[in-house]
Amino acid sequence: MVNYNINAINISFTRLGENDKLLTVFAREVGLTKLVAKGAAKPGSKVAGRAELLVVNKLQVAKGKSIDIISQAETINANIKLRNNLNILGCALYHLELTKSFGHQLAQESAIYYDLLLSSLNILLDGYPLWYTLKFQMILAKMLGYEPQLSSCVVCQARINDHNLALFHYELGGVICKNCQFNRKNFLKENINAYEVKSTYTASNLVMGNYTHITPMILKQINKLNEASPDILVTTENVNEIQLIRTYQLYKNFLEFKIGKKFNGFEVLA
Ligand SMILES: [Zn+2]
Repeated sequence: MVNYNINAINISFTRLGENDKLLTVFAREVGLTKLVAKGAAKPGSKVAGRAELLVVNKLQVAKGKSIDIISQAETINANIKLRNNLNILGCALYHLELTKSFGHQLAQESAIYYDLLLSSLNILLDGYPLWYTLKFQMILAKMLGYEPQLSSCVVCQARINDHNLALFHYELGGVICKNCQFNRKNFLKENINAYEVKSTYTASNLVMGNYTHITPMILKQINKLNEASPDILVTTENVNEIQLIRTYQLYKNFLEFKIGKKFNGFEVLA
């Protein structure tokens, strides 16, 4: 039997029969993958603890016919501290949700993404978990090639300033100026109609469907976060809670639009 070793974080699982779990992990070496964890559904077993969400393991894996099987697991970080606070845990679970949805697109950059994910989870404990979660969303969007156009209008390319900023358009992937909002109401309408026809995505779940209003303050918040290095010291000066939540929602909706489904987000435990 061929064996291989990986470093992986547990992303999600389903029950497999009486005693086993089918684990989805993100591995530094191979990206998103599904593995059988035998005995992991037996309560109280050593294996059960290692198969919990957010646990980082060094795994020895045996090649199976269709799905590979974990033969040995050594826990590197159980991430217990992430569970001590519901707000932090909600943010951590949202990291997993994003990884489960977009991880298959990151196979080529699995090592970079794995390191980013683990460091972002770790930094949630430093306070301001929503700030770091938003930063994580933004880096993920960039890695996926979804970086939004924010400095000029996606329709007419006019430079965006505090006075002409109108909308953020999910499908066009950026901001729209007031001029285009008023002159091109039909354009926006056509886009929404076209989108509804070709997609099964329930746009009605989103704020205003295909686009949302964006204020200069929120745009400033996004630019501030984009410029900030991940290890910047966060202070109350950097953080305006209401703007932060709105900015987080804008990016969440944008990523939802890209994948065509709703996320629970950090609010899942709220
Ligand atoms: Zn415009």
